[in-house]
Amino acid sequence: MTDEKKLNEINCRRTFAIISHPDAGKTTITEKVLLLGKQIQKAGTVKGKKSGQHAKSDWMEMEKERGISVTTSVMQFPYRDALVNLLDTPGHEDFSEDTYRTLTAVDSCLMVIDGAKGVEDRTIKLMEVTRLRDTPIITFMNKLDRDIRDPLELLDEVERILNIMCAPITWPIGSGKNFKGVYHLKDDQIILYKSGQGHKIQDIDVIDGLNNPELDKRIGSYADDLREEIELVRGASNEFDHELFMAGELTPVYFGTALGNFGVDHMLDGLVDWAPKPLPRETDQGRQVVASEPEFSGFVFKIQANMDPRHRDRIAFMRIVSGKYEKGMKMRQVRINKDVRIADALTFLAGDREHVDEAWPGDIIGLHNHGTIQIGDTFTGGESFKFSGIPNFAPEMFRRIRLKDPLKQKQLLKGLVQLSEEGAVQVFRPLSNNDLIVGAVGVLQFDVVVHRLRSEYNVDAIYENINVATARWVTCDSERKLDEFRLKAESNLALDGGDNLAYIAPTMVNLNLAIERYPEIEFHHTREH
Ligand code: GDP
Repeated sequence: MTDEKKLNEINCRRTFAIISHPDAGKTTITEKVLLLGKQIQKAGTVKGKKSGQHAKSDWMEMEKERGISVTTSVMQFPYRDALVNLLDTPGHEDFSEDTYRTLTAVDSCLMVIDGAKGVEDRTIKLMEVTRLRDTPIITFMNKLDRDIRDPLELLDEVERILNIMCAPITWPIGSGKNFKGVYHLKDDQIILYKSGQGHKIQDIDVIDGLNNPELDKRIGSYADDLREEIELVRGASNEFDHELFMAGELTPVYFGTALGNFGVDHMLDGLVDWAPKPLPRETDQGRQVVASEPEFSGFVFKIQANMDPRHRDRIAFMRIVSGKYEKGMKMRQVRINKDVRIADALTFLAGDREHVDEAWPGDIIGLHNHGTIQIGDTFTGGESFKFSGIPNFAPEMFRRIRLKDPLKQKQLLKGLVQLSEEGAVQVFRPLSNNDLIVGAVGVLQFDVVVHRLRSEYNVDAIYENINVATARWVTCDSERKLDEFRLKAESNLALDGGDNLAYIAPTMVNLNLAIERYPEIEFHHTREH
């Protein structure tokens, strides 16, 4: 293969994820994006996961749901001359650390906001995670077929709360019953909206030029209002600037309705034109690996277990950073310094598991994992570096876990440590007592853990409430100071599954007091593997 061909393979890739608050429209947008990518014939076939759709204890149902989420974990499709990888970010009950970590494996994010609601808390949290890498953000204001809030006010809210500049690319003409379409500020075109075309690619109805008299014929008095408003918008908002976008400081904003299948194509065009091609990644040796390097490299950001005990396979999801995956190739798993031959990596084209013969930087491949692969693992063509930036995130919910049969304490600990290596949950062992504390980012993980402990480790465990608000990993440059801290704060300290020291805070106030009281100690919200 010529170098040019190889560069084309890399440069055409766009790897992104969607961040949004539940119900803002992520599933609906995903459907429309796949429709535009011609991966599904008719929108409405991607099954959403809704809270309350399955009882928590209904494992058959959950298994099915998990099955779906394995196959929709990565969706690859062509759009124009690009190849797009959309990584699923679990959002409702299955919100978890995986959601956060997936954001470390993409090159850009689409932020979907419900135009009637504005910025909501899950979005704020997810945006914080994208800031770890200053990921470029594209924004879609959704649900324009309903009455939304004043668009300028929405942009202002994004700028204020999320601390990112907004550059509108399209501007809405009315909303709700009076939604007429959008004006494309860059192309100087009006794209008219027709309802009732949600399930197919819309016939595009375009008027060229804001001052085109055709506009007055088509939308009547809205035309003059629009002209006035656009003048105001051009004066009051930022122009798109690619450099600022790439630095994560400015987001292009699109308006539309995912349900009405309107505007999603504008956003996708923006993604293909502006979003970064596969970006370099940092290593622990202070060097960046760029996508065009010939040697293969990649890292594991998620491990997904099959809930069905008959199919124990776990899939490790690897983001390729450089080189090329070829079926049957040898890779080095750096952490255990072992060479492995990979002949059966999976891809997720159109939601089906298919065996791939090759994959490129920006792509995600699934490796069968029989317990030897951990989150954060680096694979190379033979070199021994490790990628950084695939952290653990401090859990936000905690429970004490207790055995029904106290004789199985060892088994329980082993199971919990292994499950924490997979990134499902984290386990903390207090220094001052024999409790075992399970911490998770999303509530469903607690059920997953008890279920897997029973089926894979043969232990029956139950949860008890515990008064913990948050945890922080602690480090200190001075050994002596750290030892002092250990003695003074012992009752709040614990070791995690990898024996790292963590501060367990009963309240946020307690945490803030500790941070003030021990200035020499660093309290970390994330921890590198
Ligand atoms: P998710 O939780 O973010 O995946 O959101 P969904 O895509 O499941 O959407 C949540 C609800 O909002 C569903 O009932 C959708 O039909 C609805 N919805 C999504 N997009 C739109 C839209 O553009 N207009 C309207 N009116 N409803 C929408």
